[in-house]
Amino acid sequence: MASIFISDLHLCATRPLIAGVFFDFLRGDARQADGLYILGDLFEYWAGDDDHTPFNQQVTTALREYSQGGTPLYFMHGNRDFLIGADFLASTGATLLNDPALIDIEGLPTLLLHGDTLCTDDIKYLAFRKKVRDPIYQQQFLAQTLASRKQIIAGLRAENVEEKQQKSEAIMDVAPRAVEAVMREYGCSRMIHGHTHRPALHHHQVDGTRCERWVLGDWYAAGSYLLCDAAGCRSVTL
Ligand code: MN
Repeated sequence: MASIFISDLHLCATRPLIAGVFFDFLRGDARQADGLYILGDLFEYWAGDDDHTPFNQQVTTALREYSQGGTPLYFMHGNRDFLIGADFLASTGATLLNDPALIDIEGLPTLLLHGDTLCTDDIKYLAFRKKVRDPIYQQQFLAQTLASRKQIIAGLRAENVEEKQQKSEAIMDVAPRAVEAVMREYGCSRMIHGHTHRPALHHHQVDGTRCERWVLGDWYAAGSYLLCDAAGCRSVTL
């Protein structure tokens, strides 16, 4: 039994090469999995399930073909594509995961997260997250025309680029205290998340128990995935 984890692909029509790597991955390496887990930020942004651009359709079709091949497909929201809804899930055959989600891999409890909730030093972002994850806010946002939603998103993205240049590297990384608090809460011995774009294996000591934390890589320079089975986890670059 092998589970495969990916995140932070940031797919968009302006980066067709990496989208191609993803489509090849779905037809190739991903087929060896008994479960494929997308841990957020599959897309660079998501304006709503009614945004049927040719590119979005292409990704939807590729995912549907993958899940129809019989492998369970799981999706967790990221901070870019948290507006992915029931229609997208139904068209792709993906099952939505809560953040965090505790799963069992060969008897080892493993906690999955996108990773943004661990960046607790970024107070401003957490306030923004709280606002946009509110169901009523989302309902009102999605009630606007697709064109105005896209305009708002474009404005937010421009603001985000500026802000990122002002924020320190430490603020944008996970806070060890937050990581350990979550590990303690879930009693997990393994955690997998993305978001920070800093792929690595970290070890944490929580109440005398050793916990490993795998950080997934982004798909900017190359695609990559984490494969976990009875032998443990290993990351693979495409
Ligand atoms: Mn992210």
